[in-house]
Amino acid sequence: MKFEITVLGSGSALPTLTRRPSSHFVNCNERYILIDCGEGTQLQLRKYKLKFQRIDVICITHLHGDHFFGLVGLLSTMHLLGREKKLTIICPEGLESIIRMQLEIGGGAYLSFEIEFNELNYPASKLVFEDNVLEIHCFPLKHRVPTHGFLIQEKERLYSLDKPAFDHYGLSIAQIPAIRRGEDIEREDGTIIRNKELVLPKEKPKSYAYCSDTIFRENLTEHVSGVDLMYHEATFLDKDKDKAKKTYHTTAAQAGQLAKKARVKKLLIGHFSTRYLDVQGHIDEAGQHFENVEAAEEGKVIRI
Ligand SMILES: [Zn+2]
Repeated sequence: MKFEITVLGSGSALPTLTRRPSSHFVNCNERYILIDCGEGTQLQLRKYKLKFQRIDVICITHLHGDHFFGLVGLLSTMHLLGREKKLTIICPEGLESIIRMQLEIGGGAYLSFEIEFNELNYPASKLVFEDNVLEIHCFPLKHRVPTHGFLIQEKERLYSLDKPAFDHYGLSIAQIPAIRRGEDIEREDGTIIRNKELVLPKEKPKSYAYCSDTIFRENLTEHVSGVDLMYHEATFLDKDKDKAKKTYHTTAAQAGQLAKKARVKKLLIGHFSTRYLDVQGHIDEAGQHFENVEAAEEGKVIRI
């Protein structure tokens, strides 16, 4: 089973040739989710050969340009390429009318596909999307405008059949669904075969949390506790923590502290300010508090 994140943009408000505005592409067992869609995101999708017509859900954290200025362009391209599949957009209140207006003024109010907008009233902490593979939950962050983070959680899977054991007991195909659900099997002679003899060990469902943009808040841990991967913004270094506080952003050290407190398995930091020429300082600072840290970088793929 596949659960992987591709970083499309690791920068903050100012796009540069090396760091693009925020966007992550998530493949969770063949469900495709785009989180944030800064300017140029569709070109990044093309560059890294990610098939954007497959995207099922787009989550937009907040209405600052570096998180959604690429959305109307992406939707327009999906239309021009004849998309038919419905798209769900989970976003702050007001985005639907912005997008509809942009499309109308741009001459293309009609789209070849349906968009279901799910606008969130701030602050919301709830399930916002669900299918048979995954759940997406939103939770409030604290930024200068209403902002939500997202948690993508795999659903508990069915057990996989231990084929040799199944054959050994001579069971019928009709019994497979019950076995995969975890039930014991009673044979015709009344003997019971314990489920654990018929299945392979089950993998624990995995989870990924996306937290950007936000001021440092310790109570975020209640939403991201124990996740396999937490992406957290780390716009500034600790020497600029006053600036971070003033602009409702986080420092790398604070992101590390949060990862430690939330007992996440891995921390990915990003949304780096262009004032820093490289981000080794961010990795070092976060690493003083939490060992398993990586810096986001365009094209980087992280497997959970
Ligand atoms: Zn931002």
